[in-house]
Amino acid sequence: MELKDSIVRLPFVGPIYAKRLEKLGILTIEDLLFHFPFRYDDFSKISSIAELQAGETATITATVEKMTNAFTKNGKRLQQAEIFDKSGKIEAVWFNQMYLLRTFRKGETYNFSGKVAWFGRKKVFVSPDYEKTSLKCIHTARLVPVYNETYGISSKWLRSRINFALKNFNDQVKEFLPDEVIKKNNLITEKEALDQIHFPGDMDFAQKAKYRLSFDELYLIQLSSLLRKKGWQKKVLGKQFFIDFEKSMKFIDSLPFSLTNAQKRCSKEILIDLQKSTPMNRLLQGDVGSGKTVVAALAAYTAYLNKTDTLFMAPTEILANQHFVTLKSFLEPLGVPVELITGSNKPKTRNSSPKVVIGTHALLYQNFKTEDVGLVIVDEQHRFGVEQRTLLSQKGRTPHFLTMTATPIPRTIALTMYNDLDLSVMDEMPEGRIKVKSWVVPKEKRAKAYGWIKTKVKQTPQQAFIICPFIEQSETKSTIKAAIKEFETLSKDVFPDLKLGLLHGRMKSKEKDSVLTSFKEGRLDILVATPVVEVGIDIPNATIMMIEAADHFGLAQLHQLRGRVGRNSLQAYCLLFADNDSPLSINRLKNLETISNGMQLAEVDLKLRGPGQIFGTAQHGFTDLHIASFSNLDLIQKTRLAAEASLNNISPHLKDKLEKYKIAAISN
Ligand code: ADP
Ligand code: MG
Repeated sequence: MELKDSIVRLPFVGPIYAKRLEKLGILTIEDLLFHFPFRYDDFSKISSIAELQAGETATITATVEKMTNAFTKNGKRLQQAEIFDKSGKIEAVWFNQMYLLRTFRKGETYNFSGKVAWFGRKKVFVSPDYEKTSLKCIHTARLVPVYNETYGISSKWLRSRINFALKNFNDQVKEFLPDEVIKKNNLITEKEALDQIHFPGDMDFAQKAKYRLSFDELYLIQLSSLLRKKGWQKKVLGKQFFIDFEKSMKFIDSLPFSLTNAQKRCSKEILIDLQKSTPMNRLLQGDVGSGKTVVAALAAYTAYLNKTDTLFMAPTEILANQHFVTLKSFLEPLGVPVELITGSNKPKTRNSSPKVVIGTHALLYQNFKTEDVGLVIVDEQHRFGVEQRTLLSQKGRTPHFLTMTATPIPRTIALTMYNDLDLSVMDEMPEGRIKVKSWVVPKEKRAKAYGWIKTKVKQTPQQAFIICPFIEQSETKSTIKAAIKEFETLSKDVFPDLKLGLLHGRMKSKEKDSVLTSFKEGRLDILVATPVVEVGIDIPNATIMMIEAADHFGLAQLHQLRGRVGRNSLQAYCLLFADNDSPLSINRLKNLETISNGMQLAEVDLKLRGPGQIFGTAQHGFTDLHIASFSNLDLIQKTRLAAEASLNNISPHLKDKLEKYKIAAISN
C-alpha cells in the first residue's frame, strides 16, 4: 500500500468510516497523516494510586486484580476493575461497556488515564482510557493528541488509526523542501514533524513540529502564488477593451443611489485594468454590504459594450439567483441581456449576442466559447478564483478576472500571500446604515431572549435567523445545538405559534431555494440554519440574528453572519450565545459588541490566536490555513524568501506537493 491509496484500505476503516472521513476531507492515507490534533492532554506524569485526589485528571500504571459486572440503581451496567500498584488500590469503573470484561486480564499491567471522582464514599477512576504497558502508548502516559470530534469520529479512534498509518506509511513521506531551506531555517524533517505533531515526545517537540508544518503551509501557498504570477504574466488577453467613459457615467447615473467614494475609487481601478492589453487579475475586497455587486456590474457592462460575455460565478445557487435578480435590475434597463444558468435552470436556446451569464461553478463546465468571454467575475470564493483562472485560460487566450470577497484579510498579508492578485479595497459603507446592536447573552437569559424575539417578530414584520454550527447532533457534543433538532424543539416548545423554517448545507438546492424564498417573502418568521447563510444572502426584513455556540466561530466569520441582518432602515440585533462561557471565550466574543468593522475583528482574531495556544480555534471560512497562522508575520517573511529562492528550481517532488496542495485547498 502507498500513501496515495484510499483510506478504505487501512485496517479497521470500513466504508462507513471512510464516508465520515471524507466529510473531513480525508480521502487517502496521506490525508490522514495531515489531519492534525487541535490540542494535547498531558497524561505524561505517572502518579501513584496513594496520591490520587478526587477531581484530578491523572495517569497511573496498575495491575488488574479483579473484574466484575454490576448494575446501578437506574439499571445501567457497570464494569468495575480492582487495580493496584505498589502504593495502594483503587477501582476503575465504566458504564455499559460489557466487552471490557473480556478485555482486561487478571495480573496484567495497564496505564489508566482519566478523571478521579467520588463514587458514593469511594474514590474511583471514572471511565479512564487504558492501554497495556507492554505496547507503545498512544492514549495514556504521554502527551495525548486530541482531535476534533465530528461526524461521529471519536478522537480515540482517529488516534489509533493515525498511529497505525504513521507506523506503516510515514517512511514513504519523501522530503520535498530543498536542503538549503531546511538548514537555513533550522527545520526538522517533514517525516519527523508528522510523527511529532501527533505523538510528541514533549511540548518542545510539538512546537518544532508545528513550526515545520506551518512553514510548509505558508511556503507552499506563496510558492504557488509566485508561480501563478509568473504564468499569468505570460498570458495573452483575449480582447483588449475600449472604455466608454460617457456610457459608464450614464450607468452610474441610472442607479437608485450615488456611489460611495470607495466604490468610485475601486471602479476606476478596475476600468483602468480593463483598458490594458494584459489580463486583469484583481481582488475586490469589501465588508458585507459595502456594495461590491454594483462595481462588478459596471465591469460587466464594460465587457458588454466591448461585445464580449461576462461569466459571473457565485458559490451557491441561492446566491446565483439573488445576483441574477440584482444584476438584471442594474443592467437590463441599459439593454444588456442577463441570463441564469444553474442545475435547475438552463436556458433552452443559447443566445449568441454579448450577455452576462450568472451561475455557480458549474458554469465553467458549460460549453462557452472561451474567445467570447471577456470577463470572469468570481464572488465570495476564498480560493480567489484559482481554479476558474486555470480552466478558463488553458487555451492560451485569457479573459479579465475580477474576484470579490468579504473575507477580511489584512492588506499586508494579502499582498504577501496572494501576490499574484492586485487589490482593491472598499473601506467604506454606503450612508445611512444602522449598526447591528450586538450582545453576548448569558445562559440564564435564554428564555428571556426567546420571549423578546417572539414579541419583535409578532409585532412588526421582522424576521429572525437562528444559527447553529452543526447540522445533526451526531456531529457534535450534546451541549452544542444542532440545526435539525433545534428546529424541532423550537417549533414545538418555544415558538409554537410562529412559522419556522430549516436550512442547512445537506438539503437539496431546490429545497433550499424554496425555504429561502418563503423566508424572503415573509411566509416564515424564523429561519433555523447552519452557517450556509453566511455569504451574501439578502433578506431585507430580517433584523434579528441569534447565534448558538458562537465561540465555535472566528470573530470575522461571526461578523459576516451578522451582516445578514440590518439590510434596511430598521434597527437590527445580534444575540450571541456561547457554549464555552469561560471569561476568555466571553471576552473574545464581546469584541463584537463594540467593533463593527470586519477587518478590525479579523485583526483581533489574529492576535488572540497568537501565542499561548498550540492550535487556534477553527477559523473555518476565514482562510485556507490548517495549521499556520497569518498572525505570524516573521514566518510569513521567512517562507516568502524561501519561496522566492525556490522559484527557479522546482524538483519533481516539490511540484507534486504543490499540485496536491492546490487541489486540497480548492476543495474547501
Ligand atoms: P456586498 O459588498 O456585500 O456584496 P451588495 O453589493 O450586496 O454588498 O450591496 C448591499 C446593498 O447595498 C444592496 O442592496 C445594494 O443595492 C446597496 N448599495 C450598494 N451601493 C450602495 C450605495 N452607494 N448607496 C446605497 N446603497 C447601496
Ligand atoms: Mg455580495
